[in-house]
Amino acid sequence: MNLKENTERVFQQIKDASQQAGRETNSVSIVAVTKYVDVLTAEALLPLGVHHIGENRVDKFLEKYEALKDRNITWHLIGTLQRRKVKDVIQYVDYFHALDSLKLAEEIQKRSDRVVKCFLQVNISKEESKHGFSREELLELLSELATLDKIEYVGLMTMAPFEASSDELKEIFKATQDLQLEIREKQIPNMPMTDLSMGMSRDYKEAIEFGSTFVRIGSAFFK
Ligand SMILES: *Cc1c(COP(=O)(O)O)cnc(C)c1O
Repeated sequence: MNLKENTERVFQQIKDASQQAGRETNSVSIVAVTKYVDVLTAEALLPLGVHHIGENRVDKFLEKYEALKDRNITWHLIGTLQRRKVKDVIQYVDYFHALDSLKLAEEIQKRSDRVVKCFLQVNISKEESKHGFSREELLELLSELATLDKIEYVGLMTMAPFEASSDELKEIFKATQDLQLEIREKQIPNMPMTDLSMGMSRDYKEAIEFGSTFVRIGSAFFK
């Protein structure tokens, strides 16, 4: 694994995809998902220009955070969070990407002493195995979610099915973007809805085409 080469390639690919989409390169933030590697490898990303670190599990998040908390890093928790673990981790999280129920939002409200930036996870493809709100569910819950003032709802997050074709990916990401814009227009307090967390190593291109502002890239860094 050549981390420097991989990182340069990822940066270049995101730059190319942004340009193809007619967007500024700096409108897309790259979250390096370090779940595959140890603390030292994650740390080696920092001098290469990576400033966003993401982990999908609480124990792994805490391990990386403990070791690297004094460094210039924005911390992302990107995976499913069980309610009973909120209190262990939420105070260290800058962005939580997988807010998928009202009950979880209420737990964050109860346990956090500061405002946490959160993405509402949506399950546009209605895959059984995936977490997240359906469009209808989410629209119905918006006003209730907005009363929780320890949460800033920065945008929507989605994960496309592993086997989706390029056309299916575009459909899913476009539907997510449409929903983001629909919610943003409502101008609800605590819900700026300016961001989209979409795209991983295999589908960042389509995600950027449809407005993603945070891509979550793991394996492309570490292959
Ligand atoms: C692992 C993971 C990623 C990164 O996936 P890659 O295919 O390795 O880029 C993105 N988002 C979530 C929620 C993940 O768990």
